[in-house]
Amino acid sequence: MAFSLSALFSNDIGIDLGTANTLVYVKGQGIVVNEPSIVALDRNSGKPMAIGASAKEMLGRENPDIEVVRPLRDGVIADFDVTEEMLRFFIKKVQKNKLLVRPRIVICVPSGVTPVEMRAVRESAERAGAREVYLIKEPMAAAIGIGLPVEEAVGSMVIDIGGGTTEIAVIALSGIVTCKSIKMAGDELNEGIVQFLKRKHSLLVGERSAELIKCGIGSAGPLETEIQHTCRGLDLVSSIPKTIIVDSAEVREALAEPVGAIIDAVRQTLEHTPPELAADILDRGIIMTGGGALLRGLDRRLVEETSLPVIVADDPLTCVVRGTGKVLGNITEYQKVLT
Ligand code: ADP
Ligand code: MG
Repeated sequence: MAFSLSALFSNDIGIDLGTANTLVYVKGQGIVVNEPSIVALDRNSGKPMAIGASAKEMLGRENPDIEVVRPLRDGVIADFDVTEEMLRFFIKKVQKNKLLVRPRIVICVPSGVTPVEMRAVRESAERAGAREVYLIKEPMAAAIGIGLPVEEAVGSMVIDIGGGTTEIAVIALSGIVTCKSIKMAGDELNEGIVQFLKRKHSLLVGERSAELIKCGIGSAGPLETEIQHTCRGLDLVSSIPKTIIVDSAEVREALAEPVGAIIDAVRQTLEHTPPELAADILDRGIIMTGGGALLRGLDRRLVEETSLPVIVADDPLTCVVRGTGKVLGNITEYQKVLT
């Protein structure tokens, strides 16, 4: 009775608080929010003017009155107050008409967070309206979202490539056995493109344009047919706008360094994996999640470099939040995987 009443008056929710995107899962409804983790602030009052997709539109188009920030940029919470505002906004958005009972919230934290950061996330979620807060490490949520047998005595390896961090974890018996978190992910790939265009084409482009190039023609290994992309920016010599055509081979060169760093981190994690679990991974393969898993040819590169099978998860951008959704469905059963 208590359960059905609270279900009527409150939504239990799962949140993937990512450095690039925040997703919210509502029990019984599925994913209801999927927006960039970006906030536009009024510089005079410090108050948010726009949050999510509408704030992303303003990125790189700021003026003296508007500042656009990514409060979680490098995988840690760079700005606690703004992160809390953003959380509050998304929680409110899904709690419409259901304010009688405050929700229980399952929320993800990167595997490398410190106890202080963990406490800050918990308190932010509480202040933003949570009745109870459960924390779960991101790679664990991703593994549950994919449907890996996290509770069993077999090892699974997950590589989650987000915006600010790449998290590599080996999971078995409801715990993370080995993990590595590096600040080398989607943002660094974008930055690689920005620097490359400056150096090779004297062209200045913003972060958003670089991301469009990466998603459009970026790759980690040779393509069957190389592709081209038109890109606009500011000529560094004449200081006027210009348009150039870049091709996938040169963009690959621009991405080589960060891609190499991600591959090295995977290798190092494998070296620190206990032999029995390494044998499991040899059988079952490595699973990739997060937006970065969509980079063309990255899976093939990893196969070449590790000689292990590599699988890109279905819908890699939503694995983590779907994992929180599964945990919400049975918090008692998943108690062991919570942090
Ligand atoms: P986070 O969990 O840190 O919020 P996400 O898992 O949402 O990150 O992934 C966002 C990152 O994935 C961004 O850096 C984005 O540019 C990148 N991304 C999204 N789609 C693609 C694609 N098709 N190719 C390469 N990178 C992509
Ligand atoms: Mg993520």
